[in-house]
Amino acid sequence: MRPNELIPLFAPVETLKGIGPRLAVLMKKALRLPPGVRDARVLDLVWHMPTGVVDRRAEPSVAEAIPGTIVTLKVRVLKHKAPPRGNAKVPYKIATEDDTGRLDLIFFRAEPSFIERQLPIGEIRYVSGRAEKYGDTLQMAHPDYIVDEDHRADLPLLEPVYPLTAGLSAKVILKSVRQAACLVPTFPEWQDPAWLKARGWDGFAPSVQRIHLPADSSDVSPSSPAWQRLAYDELLANQLALGIVRQSFKAQRGRPVRGDGRIRSKLINALPFALTNSQKTALSEIAADMNAPKRMLRLLQGDVGSGKTIVALMAMAIAVEDGAQSALMAPTEVLARQHLETIAPLADAAGLRIALLTGREKGKPREHLLDALRNGDIDILIGTHALFQDDVIFRDLAFAVIDEQHRFGVHQRLALQMKGGEGGANMLVMTATPIPRTLLMTHYGDLDVSKLTEKPAGRKPIVTKAVPTDAMEKLIDRIRVQLAEGAQVYWVCPLIESSEITELAAAEERHAHLQQIFGARVGLLHGAMAAAAKDATMEAFAKNQLQILVATTVIEVGVNVPNANIMVIEHAERFGLAQLHQLRGRVGRGSRESFCMLLYAQPLGETAKERLAMMETTEDGFAIAEKDLELRGGGEVLGARQSGLPEFRIADVPGFPMLLAAARDDATMILERDPALASPRGRALRTLLYLFECDEAVRLFRAA
Ligand code: ADP
Ligand code: MG
Repeated sequence: MRPNELIPLFAPVETLKGIGPRLAVLMKKALRLPPGVRDARVLDLVWHMPTGVVDRRAEPSVAEAIPGTIVTLKVRVLKHKAPPRGNAKVPYKIATEDDTGRLDLIFFRAEPSFIERQLPIGEIRYVSGRAEKYGDTLQMAHPDYIVDEDHRADLPLLEPVYPLTAGLSAKVILKSVRQAACLVPTFPEWQDPAWLKARGWDGFAPSVQRIHLPADSSDVSPSSPAWQRLAYDELLANQLALGIVRQSFKAQRGRPVRGDGRIRSKLINALPFALTNSQKTALSEIAADMNAPKRMLRLLQGDVGSGKTIVALMAMAIAVEDGAQSALMAPTEVLARQHLETIAPLADAAGLRIALLTGREKGKPREHLLDALRNGDIDILIGTHALFQDDVIFRDLAFAVIDEQHRFGVHQRLALQMKGGEGGANMLVMTATPIPRTLLMTHYGDLDVSKLTEKPAGRKPIVTKAVPTDAMEKLIDRIRVQLAEGAQVYWVCPLIESSEITELAAAEERHAHLQQIFGARVGLLHGAMAAAAKDATMEAFAKNQLQILVATTVIEVGVNVPNANIMVIEHAERFGLAQLHQLRGRVGRGSRESFCMLLYAQPLGETAKERLAMMETTEDGFAIAEKDLELRGGGEVLGARQSGLPEFRIADVPGFPMLLAAARDDATMILERDPALASPRGRALRTLLYLFECDEAVRLFRAA
């Protein structure tokens, strides 16, 4: 159904020159593929945005070359000086010159044949790379490019720099992205010409090419017109898709689902605790939605540990009471299994027939399961993405729950919904990330929201205090007192920007320091440890064999240790609010009074001050998320992995809130005037939707 002109872009990267299966696997790692996409495609290269640019345009004479800068030099090769045999420490040295001076090219561990091929004596070569002064001579170690005069034009004078992965060279990525960018055809324009003109934006293909084959270093920037245009394209596709989904939602009647409560009361009896008021409220909201003759789409938000699973199970039971089926989908196999384990004993007690379907279920057992599902012998199916597969057919799916929705796309949600037959399944989406209302709009459109704001009984408030690092000794004294009373401490070490190694060093240092004070009951947990060692350390902490656990932020302190009651976060000023909130959530789970100590280095910037003050005053994840948005701006919040939200591939740019607002208005207007996207612009917009993989949205037109 995809327009033909898009076929080359959706083809696997192997269709490009120079890319075989080995590189394709590496690319899959380096590129950010959308959820559910298994292999890197040409389009993923188009969206692989540069993080910077190397400017090779400086073409001085050798005498004029400024040491420490990237230059392109035209030189004649004078002589080769190979290193003495067997001494790999001495580099291969090639003397070259121009009319103004000498330049030595330096190669460590070079293949003589490579040198001879690339730099024949007496020939003219262009070499590009960083010039350095070594004593009196100018040197260039391992030039990035060596070309002869005939290939002068192949030298990329402005070279975008891309995120890489081990084994994948910058050159390979550069060449592939460039090929991909050049494969982008000229599509009929989908943006409003007046708007393009007002913003000074070019067409889609030229904008793509402008970024990947820049004419100026300023082109490679999220605030460049080219990048802004693509960001707007992405936002418009997003808003349009949501608008279409909303439109079709409104147009279709759902099926009312009502239960008689017989299974729910068995579940309640089997629960070892009473539901919180928040849980009860959420359940009655869900029951009312299911009962109404329109399709249900509701978001259930609640911090980790707020008890969403039980709500989901009770809601799924309503559909079963009505004689239908339910599904619960988790983003990973581990989470799906966890749900199964939580649910199984309760389901048993209530006579619910449940099953698990993940990628791991294969062959006969899988066939068996699918038969049972089709015959209605399974009441509740729990699983992963595997639930989307075409041969997964329900007898009568009336209700579907998606956990941690942010890892699924809108279209995947629709795919599951469609399995509900004519009326479509009622949907409940659950997320542990408190999402500010404005961002909800971007990702879900209009939908109803239930919140679990109460903590399950027995949880105590966490006393949070920000203190300067200078006060660490006092803190350690207090911890000593606490430890004597049997307390346990998480100690999170500074986040140092994009440098795992220094972060690790800091954690090791702190670990040694605390061990000196407190002895052997101090453990260390970091990302570079083997999985088994991590598990062992975590288990020792969980069993209270370790009293203090020093950890870096690269690891997820994901295990529940109710006895841990103190969280110390060093350099808290460097963390985002969402991250601080998540870390703090690790304590306050048991019966002890809990503390969160935020250590900060002075002086403290304005934003950091506000963040820490916010943490001191509230534990409300929703209020914190709103503040986070206010302090950082929508684009950044969206881009930040820690927020757990679906990421835009391009739209995380300066000016994001304005672009988003414009895209929302634009989408609304388009759908009012041309609800079937049948006009010429409407048809161009369909291509845009395909391009950003909102295929399901386009399909809805056919259904309508
Ligand atoms: P979430 O999925 O929201 O992170 P879970 O549903 O996994 O949270 O619940 C976390 C823990 O709290 C589970 O052990 C669950 O049994 C327990 N729990 C849920 N609701 C309550 C409640 N009302 N009272 C006490 N414990 C509860
Ligand atoms: Mg959960």
